[in-house]
Amino acid sequence: MSAQVIDGKAFAAGLRDKIGEFATAFEAKAGRKAGLAVVLVGEDPASQVYVRSKGKATVAAGMNSYEHRLNDDASEEELLALVEKLNNDPAVDGILVQLPLPKHLDEQTVISAIDPDKDVDGFHIINAGRLSVGQEGFVPCTPLGCLMLLQDKLGKDLSGLNAVVIGRSNIVGKPMAQLLTDANATVTIAHSRTKDLPAVVKQADIVVAAVGRPEMVKGDWIKPGATVIDVGINRVAGAEEGKTRLVGDVDYAQASEVAGAITPVPGGVGPMTIAVLLRNTMVSAYRRENIALAD
Ligand code: NDP
Repeated sequence: MSAQVIDGKAFAAGLRDKIGEFATAFEAKAGRKAGLAVVLVGEDPASQVYVRSKGKATVAAGMNSYEHRLNDDASEEELLALVEKLNNDPAVDGILVQLPLPKHLDEQTVISAIDPDKDVDGFHIINAGRLSVGQEGFVPCTPLGCLMLLQDKLGKDLSGLNAVVIGRSNIVGKPMAQLLTDANATVTIAHSRTKDLPAVVKQADIVVAAVGRPEMVKGDWIKPGATVIDVGINRVAGAEEGKTRLVGDVDYAQASEVAGAITPVPGGVGPMTIAVLLRNTMVSAYRRENIALAD
């Protein structure tokens, strides 16, 4: 059996088109464009690529992108002052501080300084709390993107399905487990201390792998017909010398022989993350202007 490939790239493109329509309608109603501010501290090459592609996608969706770059040695005061300025800027609906920050800056302090109602990454503890008690807020982009792909495939209500989330990070694993619970799945969270992980995963109708270990989840761990969402992005040596390639946390070749549906890496969860960031920014803009957001 060969699994159906869940095309996150195509799904994300559709979502971005829809956000573009909402952006046009927003501009007509509010008399301004929605805006996303992205703050980058330092010169980390991967972060620079992410920030550039977020900026491009924001503009392509019909919103304003405001990029703020601070030097590697920027002080905490300098960064907090910038965040405060963006909190008070009416043209800014969403604020994202690109992580990781240089070592001398405390990520929690900086994230806590963002207005929770502009925290489109959903990392502020107020938004984590809102998700936990079922209040309206912002949900981290990657797990929300995973849920969208799952619900597109399996339907909104995941009642009766066993889900195993491998990984318990604050930005992926924990919010993912909460979202699946809210969608009525029966959820197990696995992590590095889980005993007999293959047997745990074997029970799952839904597997979400967010571990950061290349191709760790093997084909014989997967229950036949299960839906597999691979969050992992790992760069490994390629077939040719000196070349690298991206792989997920799931052994795709093996798992796609057993699963019912699976996300590829790249082209699965990755493209969803930016699309959901734009979605969260759009939602923020509508909320801030008190305009009803039809689904
Ligand atoms: P973290 O390193 O924060 O968390 C990894 C989790 O995996 C931890 O909970 C850890 O357990 C668990 N883990 C580690 N080793 C094992 C093991 N051998 N068996 C079982 N569990 C294990 O990573 P993130 O959540 O930030 O990211 C996970 C992956 O997702 C990475 O590959 C990252 O690159 C990718 N990612 C992709 C995104 C996208 O846009 N597609 C966005 C964000 C992340 P413990 O808590 O016990 O240490």
